[in-house]
Amino acid sequence: MAEGAGVGGGRRQVVVPAQSGRAARVRRGDLVQVVDIEGHQVGDLWAVDAADHRRWLSVSHTRDRSERLFPAVGGAFCDHWGEPVLELAWDTSPGVHDMFFPACDRWLYESRGLAGHPNCRDNFLAAAASAGIVLPVVPDPVNLFQNSGPRPDGTLAIGVAASAPGDAVAFLARRDLVVIVTACSVDYPPLNQGRCSPLRVEIGPADRLRRRKRAL
Ligand SMILES: [Zn+2]
Repeated sequence: MAEGAGVGGGRRQVVVPAQSGRAARVRRGDLVQVVDIEGHQVGDLWAVDAADHRRWLSVSHTRDRSERLFPAVGGAFCDHWGEPVLELAWDTSPGVHDMFFPACDRWLYESRGLAGHPNCRDNFLAAAASAGIVLPVVPDPVNLFQNSGPRPDGTLAIGVAASAPGDAVAFLARRDLVVIVTACSVDYPPLNQGRCSPLRVEIGPADRLRRRKRAL
């Protein structure tokens, strides 16, 4: 497991290099803040119950329980039982995120003639394994900063991530978790504006991070 360096005050940070993934253990009551360091970079987020790996954040159940495409600030992300896993604490980005698309995978890139391309699915599997987690499926992730969604005619639009450098989304952990974040590997337009960059995950007690509202 690639735990991050301590930065004082009980806070830790984990840098997720471009086109890779990292896992981190999070305690109930901690805040988890995902920072788009350079801007326009999608981050895929998963959360698995640390005490029961059969329970993980389910984006479909989250849509069902919230009756929204993406929870509002204060809203919960749920597992298959409808029980809260994470709560959206704040969002300094334009608030454009996705819960429709799966993680990018090797077959997506192969279909574009890009064999052996880094991808979020394999990066998730490696990061999860580093934390001792092996799931029977790769759950659909929460696609942070991903600018995609339905048009009125039923098609799905995909645009450049709207996030600017330093934009951040923070979540309150509602139970002990292993959180996995991948910096999405799509290196052709539009998704990540044609270039892949790193993300930073900041973890710490809620009272320590709440004061900062903005990325370090
Ligand atoms: Zn991806």
